[in-house]
Amino acid sequence: MIRDKVVPASRASLARRERTGQKEIEGKAMNVVSVMAHQDDEMFCLGTMLKCKKRGDSLFFITITDGSKGFVQNPGINRKKAAAIRHREMSALARAAGGRYINLREHDEFLYDTPELRLRLIEALRETRAQLVFTHFHNDYNLDHVSTHHLVKQCAMHAPLPVLRTKSKPLSEAPAVFLIEPHGPILFPATHYTDISGEFEEKAELLLCHDSQERAMKAALGTGLKELCAKTAAFRGQQVGCAYAECFCPMEARGAVKTYQVLP
Ligand SMILES: [Zn+2]
Repeated sequence: MIRDKVVPASRASLARRERTGQKEIEGKAMNVVSVMAHQDDEMFCLGTMLKCKKRGDSLFFITITDGSKGFVQNPGINRKKAAAIRHREMSALARAAGGRYINLREHDEFLYDTPELRLRLIEALRETRAQLVFTHFHNDYNLDHVSTHHLVKQCAMHAPLPVLRTKSKPLSEAPAVFLIEPHGPILFPATHYTDISGEFEEKAELLLCHDSQERAMKAALGTGLKELCAKTAAFRGQQVGCAYAECFCPMEARGAVKTYQVLP
């Protein structure tokens, strides 16, 4: 696994939280993790993650693939070079957000569920001591997104099980998991909304770290990441009476729904 530097904040507080037990986390700092197929897929939960950070949470970003096929503006680019660009851009975003990035570097657009990958994702969830996870909805235009959803469903459930051994110790309980809305004409049963009016500008600024995707988006759709997010967040905000919002629904899975408040 390729890892960027650990943000120093977390070690002592993680150990303390681990000792105190996750049942006591209501009102306390949490470890918030986005698990997405590609670098930039965090765009529909990033505002909420920034809000989490304001309440003292630690942020982590996991991507399953290397993002090497995201170059409509430069189709001839080789995989290694493309993957390096995506890694650099996502690392910059994570750093600027005060978080940490873990890249599992599977083959973009050819993501398959394998025993080896499940163990690597279980380890990543354990390593981050994940308590709140954001990932893709199960119905999505991109099969990598759907595969990531199912990997998270399985691995979040398995992360507390000692029988599945990885380098880090098992989680004390499965993390809460919330799903982000997909792009496109897909019905999404939004049940939870966060007001990100105060975080929208920072979110838009951070997304510009994905320079290659800003270019790809403009080449393919004629519009950039900020415009895309602004339309969606304004639509969701209008539904709940604020300027900008992000919306989610809980993963319907054993252990993923909590009896305590997890969203900010
Ligand atoms: Zn994606």
